[in-house]
Amino acid sequence: MLELKHIKKYYHVGGTETRAQDDVSVAFRKQEFVAILGPSGSGKTTMLNIIGGLDRYDSGDLLIKGRSTKDFKDKDWDAYRNNSVGFIFQSYNLISHLSIMENVEMGMTLSGVATAEKKQRAEDALIRVGLKDHMHKKPSQLSGGQMQRVAIARAIANDPEILLADEPTGALDSETSKEIMQLIQDLSRERLVIMVTHNPDLAHQYADRIIEFADGQIQHDSHPHVEGQKTEAFQLNHTKMSYWTALKLSFNNIRTKKGRTFLTVFASSIGIIGIAVVLALSNGFQKQIDKTQSEAMASMPVTVSQVGTDTNAMMTGTKTKTFSKASHVTAQTSDADKAQHVNHITQDYLDYLSKMPKKDAKNIAISYGTGMNLARQVNGKYRTVNFSTTNPDSASGVDARAMMAASTGVGGSVYPIDRSGKQSFLKTYYKVVAGHYPTQTTDIVLVVDKDNVININALKNLGFTVKENQSFNFNQLVGTKLKLIANDDYYQQLPTGTFLPTQDLAAAAAKPATKTLTVTGIIRVKSKNSDGLLASGVAYSAALTKSVLTTNDHSAIVKAQQQAKTNVLTGQAMDASTRASVLTMLGGSDTPTTVQIYPTTFKDKDRVLKYLDKYNAGKAKADKVIYTDLAGTVSDMTGGLMDAITYVLVAFAGISLVTSMIMIAIITYTSVLERTKEIGVLKALGARKKDITRVFDAETFILGFGAGVFGIVVAWLLTFPINSVLSNVTGLNGVAVLNPLHAVILVIVSTILTILGGHVPARMAARKDAAIALRAE
Ligand code: ADP
Ligand code: MG
Repeated sequence: MLELKHIKKYYHVGGTETRAQDDVSVAFRKQEFVAILGPSGSGKTTMLNIIGGLDRYDSGDLLIKGRSTKDFKDKDWDAYRNNSVGFIFQSYNLISHLSIMENVEMGMTLSGVATAEKKQRAEDALIRVGLKDHMHKKPSQLSGGQMQRVAIARAIANDPEILLADEPTGALDSETSKEIMQLIQDLSRERLVIMVTHNPDLAHQYADRIIEFADGQIQHDSHPHVEGQKTEAFQLNHTKMSYWTALKLSFNNIRTKKGRTFLTVFASSIGIIGIAVVLALSNGFQKQIDKTQSEAMASMPVTVSQVGTDTNAMMTGTKTKTFSKASHVTAQTSDADKAQHVNHITQDYLDYLSKMPKKDAKNIAISYGTGMNLARQVNGKYRTVNFSTTNPDSASGVDARAMMAASTGVGGSVYPIDRSGKQSFLKTYYKVVAGHYPTQTTDIVLVVDKDNVININALKNLGFTVKENQSFNFNQLVGTKLKLIANDDYYQQLPTGTFLPTQDLAAAAAKPATKTLTVTGIIRVKSKNSDGLLASGVAYSAALTKSVLTTNDHSAIVKAQQQAKTNVLTGQAMDASTRASVLTMLGGSDTPTTVQIYPTTFKDKDRVLKYLDKYNAGKAKADKVIYTDLAGTVSDMTGGLMDAITYVLVAFAGISLVTSMIMIAIITYTSVLERTKEIGVLKALGARKKDITRVFDAETFILGFGAGVFGIVVAWLLTFPINSVLSNVTGLNGVAVLNPLHAVILVIVSTILTILGGHVPARMAARKDAAIALRAE
């Protein structure tokens, strides 16, 4: 069955040589009870370990059923221990954090026996050793004799052909010893049992054969055996521990050390908590900054007017610090006037603007000075109206509307249209108080302030009869319809050649070219911090003016004014600039009066300005287009500073993360030391190196994952007090916001880092010599 041929095993420690096995040759029968007697240190355990595949021989050969083990690989030894050998130790070596059943099942767990069968066989084994009534206890609830019975049940559960016992009664009283001996003798009827004992009486009483051992050599053999030459067929089933078993084993172990596990998880989570809080804060601050910026930018667009101020020119005016001694006075244009620059907002320029990257400035509002011929039916009768906010009662004399329109267009505010065609500007900055957002070019809105107050003149100019502080129901305003009449329907030429607005507004309003404008909603700024981006009153789309322009471009009155030097409405003479204004007002000029560009962040604005500067590069002074950067004085410091602070904080938190990783490594290492015995037992039961690594990796996985989740939960809980403090101090609400994606990433990072930290000690554990591991106390 089993044969040792000239087995040698020498230990060399500090120059001295210990011959633990000094040329041992012996053979064992398929079925017998062999007792090995000998003084301490004579090499009995070493021999047993070599026979059981827990230790390697230096030279010689171990034959199993006639087959040499010289070419055995690790996995063959693992399988041999698992399938063919059962070990019983003096100190029982039960795994204390597993139940009795689980201890007995472990060998089968490693070889992948199905659950039901495993359970059945474990139960049978426990019944066989007489523990039927104690099956559901914990190892710690058993007496020494009972624990040894469990160990025996574990050894025979896989029904091995060889049972190896190393002083199994060494720790038991004589009465219990006899019971155990009886049991082992009983088991030896079915298999080969080799038992080391220091008790010659027990050996002689129970064993079939006694081998006396001393100084690594067999001194006497009571019943020697000569092994036949035939080789029996035998096959080894390789073992493999599943990840699930590894996890369960580690989880059980962790469960028995709740306090320490909690401390470990807590300590390791500090790094995660730090990083999570920092990220949450910077997240929120960034959002806050973006929002503030976007609001600031919305009320301070980059503006190009027909007349711009060249601030560079203004700066260059050198001022002397001394008084003049001259006896004369010199006339000069003021610096401010010198800086006046007439912008030619050409189609070229507009095309250039439209090519500006959309992400830098989502919205551009182009205003034209064109007027609109508006009429509204009040009490069944049409009357002219406008969008202006100047007091209509104080405007008198000549065509007041023409005068007003010539300087400010039709009045009201133009809101920009999203360059991708959507209505994002209003939706971003304004909320609807009544009605809905405009959807069409002909939809107009009323802008009210935070107190729902609207400029009284805006309503008066729309034809409402209003008294100061009068309130209106929403539905009195929403749905108001206006007629937008084309020049050709609105102006009639008199025989004298001058033009006059039609007397029959009703007829003009019914003309096919007339458009109907509808007040679709009342809107108000969303943010408490931004005052009106649009003035109180009427607001309409930039596209509406553009459409008016297209309609009136070729109207009779425009054509007439283009030819006439005098005002075609009044017949009066006028200078060139007034004439241009009148022409613009009539819709005869498609040169915009202002262009407003709305970047949403300072960074975007910088890009926009760069883009605008590029247009001017290399151009003659007169062809340059000068913009006004209203937000120019507000700097972008905050953003950069935030980034810097975030990096520093993340770096600090990262250091604590690394620290906690090192801690996990130390904890795993102590756990490895602590569980040395368990590692030995698992190996004796056939666990591979990989399986041992797996057990410890599983443990660090649980710890790392636990630390990650715990850290995230704590960080999330911390955001509440942090936010309430920040809200008290700065007035900003909901600054710390934990991004779920960050949370997931941090849990993964924590898990990976701790596995990495624990992997080295886990590998050390796996490499532990089983024989040495089992000798450890
Ligand atoms: P026994 O079981 O008969 O008491 P052992 O087989 O345990 O004896 O040990 C035999 C000898 O080998 C002893 O002298 C022991 O000190 C030595 N020995 C055992 N294991 C080692 C080891 N890992 N390193 C060095 N010496 C060892
Ligand atoms: Mg020993």
